[in-house]
Amino acid sequence: APSVLWLRRDLRVGDHPALLAAQEAAGATGTVALFVLDPALWAGAGPVRRAWLSASLRALDGDLDGRLVLRLGDPAEVVPAVLAEVGGSSVHVSRETTGYGARRDGRVRAALPDGGAGWVETGTPYAVGPGRVRNGSGDPYKVFTPFSRAWREHGWPAPAPRPSHLDLLELRSDPEAERLLDEASGADDLPELPEPGETAALRRWQSFLEEDLPTYHLDRDRPALEGTSRLSAYLKIGALHPRTLLADLTGETGEGAERYVTELAWREFYADVLHHRPDSAWRDLRTELAALRYEEPEDAVEAWRQGRTGYPMVDAGMRQLLATGWMHNRVRMVTASFLTKDLHVWWPVGARWFLERLVDGDVASNNHGWQWVAGTGTDAAPYFRVLNPVSQGERFDPDGDYVRWWVPELRHLAGSAAHRPWDHPDGYAHGYPRRLVDHAEERREALARHAAARR
Ligand code: FAD
Repeated sequence: APSVLWLRRDLRVGDHPALLAAQEAAGATGTVALFVLDPALWAGAGPVRRAWLSASLRALDGDLDGRLVLRLGDPAEVVPAVLAEVGGSSVHVSRETTGYGARRDGRVRAALPDGGAGWVETGTPYAVGPGRVRNGSGDPYKVFTPFSRAWREHGWPAPAPRPSHLDLLELRSDPEAERLLDEASGADDLPELPEPGETAALRRWQSFLEEDLPTYHLDRDRPALEGTSRLSAYLKIGALHPRTLLADLTGETGEGAERYVTELAWREFYADVLHHRPDSAWRDLRTELAALRYEEPEDAVEAWRQGRTGYPMVDAGMRQLLATGWMHNRVRMVTASFLTKDLHVWWPVGARWFLERLVDGDVASNNHGWQWVAGTGTDAAPYFRVLNPVSQGERFDPDGDYVRWWVPELRHLAGSAAHRPWDHPDGYAHGYPRRLVDHAEERREALARHAAARR
């Protein structure tokens, strides 16, 4: 009988075990490639991720010979209905382990005939399925380094072969779903998105492998260089699977490759943490700081969002985010530290803004990244680490190129002077805003608040 392949964070054709399983189950009777626009997720995704999803689905449809079926509604109603429409007997997915995803899948499965007997999970969006890496006592890891070691020891399967042919059924798409996707692509005020789709993702990966991998460990912290892979948005949506990347890295021995595997391990670690602690999406993972006093300075938060804090490195990052939907990792840390430690704002306020504007916005990586900076997270990151936005700039953008690129009001300042407009007689000649707060003072304040909260 026909099968349904219900696509979610796996919008690709290659290295797709669930696609192979769906085709194998259906044989010549054919598979429906289905994407369900779930209003519950669509509403909260924000304009940038909606546009990226829309573009990525269009690209996938091209790769599926125009046979991607789009439907709108609660998946617990839509998926069983599509299965009935084609007289199918199995629904194939890549397993979801986020709180919402797992609950939703439970509901869909329960709504299928025979108590969900035809529900088949094959693979996940990760090299090792969240929940699988455990310590000697069978418990999940709470800290990155031992997790990363055990994750490598666990190992991962080889990539699945690309299907030799596609046997996809033609079914009408819901015009309202089509309309919503078109509307999302045409929204005002969108950043320039990356080229969508699996082919573009693979091309980017190949060029990174050839040109940047050998020096990745040296360049990855330098926001003015294009030293990182820029694959996060593709990984988020599953245009590429990390297994594919890890397989290509197997023969590589240099420090660049080693470091790249470690970064992929962070993505896997945060997914594992979220799987075990779904509440950590929006609540402090560790409770030591439950008594910390926060501020809600709406004007200052808005200045932070718009890149007008008066701290060049912070403003460059926030403007890069607005313009491109991406921000360099080092600068994500600097801007997050500024909001939480200099403005004393609770991290979910910042995490929400990032998710609103990031193309790669992902609850596990983003919210745990924020918690790490805020000192409430998984790691032994000391709570007293307060990043200095000026010295971070001077260290990681020593020539000031990153700041001048994103903050045109500072282009007249040569070299690292762009990080200290206050020290230059013409520093504010082109309208750059004055500093919102005094970093040294706010650092002392943050430490005092942390000390009080821990007493
Ligand atoms: P590369 O340096 O080329 O790294 C390769 C891949 O490894 C990335 O694509 C990503 O999948 C993974 N990776 C790298 N660093 C991390 C990390 N620290 N945590 C988890 N995965 C990592 N990453 C997201 O994918 N989505 C987010 O919403 C997100 N929000 C973040 C928020 C904060 C406050 C911080 C500090 C980090 C956040 N990150 C997030 C992690 C990291 O900044 C991005 O993954 C990275 O900048 C993406 O660029 P790249 O693909 O060029 O990275």
